[in-house]
Amino acid sequence: MAKMKLHILENGYLLGPKTNSLADADPAEMQTAPIWSVLIEHADGPLLLDAGCHTDEKRQHPMIFKDFSMRPEDHIQNRLAALGFEPKDIRRVVVSHLHADHSGHLELFKEAEFFVHEDEFTQRVKLYALNDPSAGSNGDMAFWISQGLRWTPIPREEPERELLPGVRLLNFGPGHSFGMLGLLVELPKTGKILLAGDAVYNRENVGPPVRLPGNVFDREGFVRSVESIVRRAKDEGALLWYGHDEAQFAALLKSPAGYYE
Ligand SMILES: [Zn+2]
Repeated sequence: MAKMKLHILENGYLLGPKTNSLADADPAEMQTAPIWSVLIEHADGPLLLDAGCHTDEKRQHPMIFKDFSMRPEDHIQNRLAALGFEPKDIRRVVVSHLHADHSGHLELFKEAEFFVHEDEFTQRVKLYALNDPSAGSNGDMAFWISQGLRWTPIPREEPERELLPGVRLLNFGPGHSFGMLGLLVELPKTGKILLAGDAVYNRENVGPPVRLPGNVFDREGFVRSVESIVRRAKDEGALLWYGHDEAQFAALLKSPAGYYE
């Protein structure tokens, strides 16, 4: 089995109405959603899953800027530096989707190959070209294009791909956004971890039956992907990590205090 270390990188948190993640929640209830990314140290080079929010307020989605909190150590470049890495060291970046709390600092990783769902990419480029304010990452799109980042879109019909020994890219299809990606990682000691990202926002979405978030692009796709992710995690005997679950995240081992291996 491939020797690997998996580091959880804290990137701040969002404070927002609970209805964002659970449509039937009390509209007055607020929730804290942790923002995080993952660095996998691998014999074939380091791989990053997501990149947190941008530190420049002008580059953030207005919703995020209003209710977003990030300490200096939470910046992705500082989290990597604490582990002895510079952005140029990162060989591969998997972007679970292109919302601003996951794709804030992609342009730092000039040497990397970027994996993104093809529908997520084409729809966000379209929203950018149309100057649609709902795009969420419009400001960043201009930077990404001008920097000539190296994108590898994952085709809609490709359900999964082995990126590296022990690291599988999972294609969840549409749901929370136009096209969602995640990872299934097999670590020598910890075993398997399925990183669902925002395809399963938090534990409460699982049900069963699946409970919808307020913030969702494709309701049927969301239900379908939650069900298939839960089934896959069970079949694989994998831990299932949700995208923004405050209680689960609090219990995880985070960098630089520790890592999973
Ligand atoms: Zn998110």
